[in-house]
Amino acid sequence: MDQTDPSPPRSDDSDDRVPGSCGACAAAMRSPTRSELSFLLLDHLTVPLVGCTDHVERFASVCGYTTADSATVVEHRPAGGVSCPSCRLVPYSPDQLVVPVESGAVGVLACPEHRSELVERFHAGLETRRQLSIDPTESTGHVGR
Ligand SMILES: [Zn+2]
Ligand SMILES: [Zn+2]
Repeated sequence: MDQTDPSPPRSDDSDDRVPGSCGACAAAMRSPTRSELSFLLLDHLTVPLVGCTDHVERFASVCGYTTADSATVVEHRPAGGVSCPSCRLVPYSPDQLVVPVESGAVGVLACPEHRSELVERFHAGLETRRQLSIDPTESTGHVGR
């Protein structure tokens, strides 16, 4: 017998949060000012990201699983700017790729080539992290800094 019991949606919070979108990320995306831009430095890539600090950092830490170095987020235009001329010219638009990151979403403002490279690395990072989290020594999440 196959008992598929659809677990009833639990609404402990009467917050009408859209799944996969964090208010702070959404706000950053609605009005992308220069100050909302973060830059992800990952190997040779310098990619502008739009989102709240929290989710941009999560995005970066997932990407960090795909590099021997670490993925760094800077809150200001890095010295030398964005190295790829095409990435530099990408304007903000609502059509920009938005990558769901846990409960938020981060906009990737890069040229199509680097955008897909970054997204691939993000997915690879997720997979690596998933495998690592199967490790029984898994920590309980927030370890304060
Ligand atoms: Zn967010
Ligand atoms: Zn590019």
